[in-house]
Amino acid sequence: MTKMHDIPFLDLQAAYRELKPDIDKAVARVLESGWYILGPEVEAFEQEFAAYCQAGHAIGVGNGLDALVLALRAVGVQPGDEVIVPSNTYIATWLAVTQCGAKPIPVEPCESTFNIDPERIEEAITPLTRAILPVHLYGQPADLDPVLSVARHHGLRVVEDAAQAHGARYKGRRIGAHGDAVAWSFYPGKNLGALGDGGAVTTDDAAIASRIRLLRNYGSREKYVHEVQGVNSRLDPIQAAVLRVKLRVLDSWNERRRALAARYVDVLAGAGLVLPAVPDWAEPVWHLFVIRSSARDALKAKFDGAGIGTLIHYPIPPHVQQAYEDLKFDSQAFPLAGRLAEEVLSLPIGPHLSSDAPVAVANILEKQRT
Ligand SMILES: *Cc1c(COP(=O)(O)O)cnc(C)c1O
Repeated sequence: MTKMHDIPFLDLQAAYRELKPDIDKAVARVLESGWYILGPEVEAFEQEFAAYCQAGHAIGVGNGLDALVLALRAVGVQPGDEVIVPSNTYIATWLAVTQCGAKPIPVEPCESTFNIDPERIEEAITPLTRAILPVHLYGQPADLDPVLSVARHHGLRVVEDAAQAHGARYKGRRIGAHGDAVAWSFYPGKNLGALGDGGAVTTDDAAIASRIRLLRNYGSREKYVHEVQGVNSRLDPIQAAVLRVKLRVLDSWNERRRALAARYVDVLAGAGLVLPAVPDWAEPVWHLFVIRSSARDALKAKFDGAGIGTLIHYPIPPHVQQAYEDLKFDSQAFPLAGRLAEEVLSLPIGPHLSSDAPVAVANILEKQRT
């Protein structure tokens, strides 16, 4: 940790402490079992997580990026294909596409929700397009119905990046099986976080599920018999055991986030910031609470000085990252992504943040105004 904040952005140790007896017991159970790759603990988590997500199947994999890559491969994305992605997202969304040898085709977001604008998808479709990859950014579901209908109309697959959306609902139904496949990350800071790396894919499609099971384990169903060139990306049983404990508290921890978000909206009204907008069909899980300000950098400095931890998600859009130099995007090609990168700021939020924190944050703004 580089700098201590009085109000930390996120407190992972507090999360462990709250569940310590159950987590310690779960870890010990795996250590004693002698079963250290896949096996009953991973299978139990897969069943519980699928049921939670209202999906037919869940397949545990090594991390969120692998979940995206394997989901894209399983729906048939191949080298030379194009995949439509948001212009404003974490770079993993794009990396998954390029790892498949496909090309990311960015589409700008709706300004109010930060999620991909379904109205702009059609114009990005070409004969090479194979799939659409919406992201439920910051824990708020993307508008899936219009995305699914464009996809159906053009014969495209839909893979969702749900790395920030554990428990979120779209029109009353949990994220987990609206599209062909849904990719999850259990990176420690996510709403459902492991004590290390982890990921999963959920789907209602038995053939996709079976393909991912094959791909994650060396392309092998039967030991030393390899049907396809797979990878090694398996959810660790120790992480699966920890995730089973944390899945039981996910709804109540998301509820704490929701209460904090509501409090922020209350106390920050009239503070001159753009606050998150929630469409009436969306039930977000507030992975992040992101505000916008044209004076973002000064504001962040002010919070830092006052001991309040904030972060920027994300400061550089993928199309201007050096990693994607080879795609030769004009840096101004996606102005909305560019502007969001300059204006967004994530305020502290999490199941262990004090309920007084939103008021402390608002007080800093008051001081700024006088
Ligand atoms: C965290 C995250 C990922 C990647 O997950 P890892 O488990 O870190 O590989 C992908 N997409 C989004 C939007 C994320 O937030």
